[in-house]
Amino acid sequence: MERTSKSAIAKSDGTFIIDYVKVAEPQADEVLVKMKAAGLCHTDYDSLNWGKSIVLGHEGAGIVEAIGTKVKNVVVGDHIILNWATPCRTCFQCTRGNEHICENNSPVVAGSNGYTNGHAHLDGTTYQGKPIERSFNIGTLSEYTLVKASAVVKNPNNNMSFAAASIISCGVMTGFGSVVNTAKVTAGSSVVVLGTGGVGLSVIQGAKVSEATKIIAIDINAGRLEMALKFGATDTILAEKDDKGLLLAAKKVKKMTQNRGADYAFECTAVPELGAAPLAMIRNAGTAVQVSGIEQEITVDMNLFEWDKVYINPLYGGCNPEKDFPKIVAHYNAGNLKLEEMITQTYELDDLEQAFTDMLSGKNAKGVILF
Ligand SMILES: [Zn+2]
Ligand SMILES: [Zn+2]
Repeated sequence: MERTSKSAIAKSDGTFIIDYVKVAEPQADEVLVKMKAAGLCHTDYDSLNWGKSIVLGHEGAGIVEAIGTKVKNVVVGDHIILNWATPCRTCFQCTRGNEHICENNSPVVAGSNGYTNGHAHLDGTTYQGKPIERSFNIGTLSEYTLVKASAVVKNPNNNMSFAAASIISCGVMTGFGSVVNTAKVTAGSSVVVLGTGGVGLSVIQGAKVSEATKIIAIDINAGRLEMALKFGATDTILAEKDDKGLLLAAKKVKKMTQNRGADYAFECTAVPELGAAPLAMIRNAGTAVQVSGIEQEITVDMNLFEWDKVYINPLYGGCNPEKDFPKIVAHYNAGNLKLEEMITQTYELDDLEQAFTDMLSGKNAKGVILF
């Protein structure tokens, strides 16, 4: 049975409309999901300018509506969390434990064929009679989405709100995973977090779970810093707007870390000019992590690398969905991870424009669309 699905559709000219797509029954290795909640992040806004018509959204949770004949990981009625990294398990990277940068299926790794391999059959989703791609192969801003079975993970907690589950899908995973999987923050260490939006708050929570003893949050927004303290930051620095490269803030960090610099610093601002800022915050042989996905060309003072510093640029927090999503849910169940508290506001799909406006103005730590 073909379903009509109200969706947010990028028009390829920087704008979007709310309109209806048609979604087919799943093929053998596919799952049809009835969406219940979809989190928003800056990537969704950026995707308006990808120059193609797509169903928007790459973060979400829902209920399995139908499955193909070969699907084994979920059954109809399961509560699921969507993921956009669907490993093939056979390529060079997958066999080295780097499933999140799969060379065959990733929608973002250069040279991979993600939009064919990782995508459910393309003519299974049509708009005005033509096949339409879905953002990151999952297009979550739609009442229904047809995805590969590997793009869904059963949520072990049926009582968890869909809104909370939906933000695990990308933002929480990216922040938490960058701390736990990539940097592997150790107990007793010092951590700096630049930018305290949804991803930054997830980094702070990851650092807390990892038992970092000093967690310094830096932001230009005093309200956000108040929030950071509630999520586990131990110290805050209100950055000045004209503090270029956050070098003044870095001086304050040094003072707070025995004049050495922090063990780890995580950049979560998505401000290109701050791409090198985490390097200024860390000690010699410390670790800087770029979490926000800055891709612009910037100038870096190589002195900031001295000495023996490591700069990592992880994708999706090193996500291995089948391992990491249940782990994150377990932390949520145990009260170690605040998720509902990260959601500033929920919206209906028809209010997506307002949700984008609130996100861009910095009003929301996390906005979520409910279906
Ligand atoms: Zn692979
Ligand atoms: Zn995202």
